[in-house]
Amino acid sequence: MEVFPIIVPTRSSLKSFNFYIMKDEGSLSLIDAGVNSSKCWDYLNEALHHHGFSLEDLDQIIITHNHEDHVGLVDRIVSSRNIPVYVPEKAICRLKRDRDFFEMRMEFFNKLYKEMGCGVEGDVQIKKLGAAMASHEEKRLKSDVIPIGKQTFTSLEPLETPGHSPDHMIYYDHGQKVIFGGDLLLNHISSNALVEPDESGNRIKTVLEHEQSLKKCASIHANVLYPGHGDIIYDHRMLVEKRLRGISRKASKIESELEQEPRTASDIALTFYKDRYYEQFSLVMSEIIGHLDYLEANGKVTKELSGGVWVYRKLRTQQ
Ligand SMILES: [Zn+2]
Repeated sequence: MEVFPIIVPTRSSLKSFNFYIMKDEGSLSLIDAGVNSSKCWDYLNEALHHHGFSLEDLDQIIITHNHEDHVGLVDRIVSSRNIPVYVPEKAICRLKRDRDFFEMRMEFFNKLYKEMGCGVEGDVQIKKLGAAMASHEEKRLKSDVIPIGKQTFTSLEPLETPGHSPDHMIYYDHGQKVIFGGDLLLNHISSNALVEPDESGNRIKTVLEHEQSLKKCASIHANVLYPGHGDIIYDHRMLVEKRLRGISRKASKIESELEQEPRTASDIALTFYKDRYYEQFSLVMSEIIGHLDYLEANGKVTKELSGGVWVYRKLRTQQ
C-alpha cells in the first residue's frame, strides 16, 4: 500500500486541507476530497499526474465526515468519472441536506441557545442558520453515496470516532499500520468537538464522545496518522495524551469558574471569550456547552432550570 498526500495550504488556522491518494492492491482510492476550489482541483490533478496517474485511474472515494472541507471535490470528480463514494452512514442526511433533519436541527439550536441564556445573540445565530438553509440546494451533495459498513473495504477498517462531528470515522490499515484520521487528531491545534443533535434531536455529549474517540485512536498501533489538516503525525499516542490533558484542563477551568457562583453557559462563554463570543458565537458556545455536558456527566456540576434558562453550579464533593 502506498499513500500520496495532497496538502493544499490555507491561510486559516487549519494550515492546510489534506486529502490522500491511496494505492492498494491495484486499486486507487481518494480519502477525503478537499474543498470545492480550483486550487484544490489543481492540486489533486497535479498529484495524480506526478505519481503517474490521472482522474481516470481513481476507483473510489472514501469520506471521513460530512464537513464541507472534506467533500468539496466529490461532485466534480464524480461528474467526470462515475466512481463509488463511500461515506459514514450518519453523514448522509447531512450531505444530502435532508430538509426534515435540518429543520429539526434549527429547532434544536433555537431551543439550545434560549436555554443557555444567549438571548439576542442566539436569535442572530438562528437567523444565520435559516439563511444558510436557503443555499442548501446549491450545497447538497449531488453524487450517489454508499454507507460504509464494517466489511466495505478489504484492507481498511472503518472505526466510528464521533466528537468532532457525529458521523466521524477514521480508517485503519492493520497491515501497514496506517491511520487516516480525518479531523479527530490534528498536530498543531486541538480539533473542536462541535455540539450537534443526533437524528432524534437529542444533544450529543460531544466532548465526552471526542475523548472516547481519542482513546480509541490511542489504543491502535500505528506508525503514521494522516490528518485532515496540518502536518502528518508520527506519534499519535503522545499527541492524544496531550489532547486529553487539554480537555481536562479546560473542563477544570470552567469548573473553577463555577466555584464562585452559579452561572449560565452564556455567562461563562462571555467570561472566557469576550470578543470571540460575538465573532465566533457558535464555536464558542459549542465549546462551553460541550465541556459543561462533560463536567455534568463526570458528576462535577449540576444544572437547574430557572426562568427557562439552565443555571449551572459546581457539585460539592462529599467529604
Ligand atoms: Zn471537520
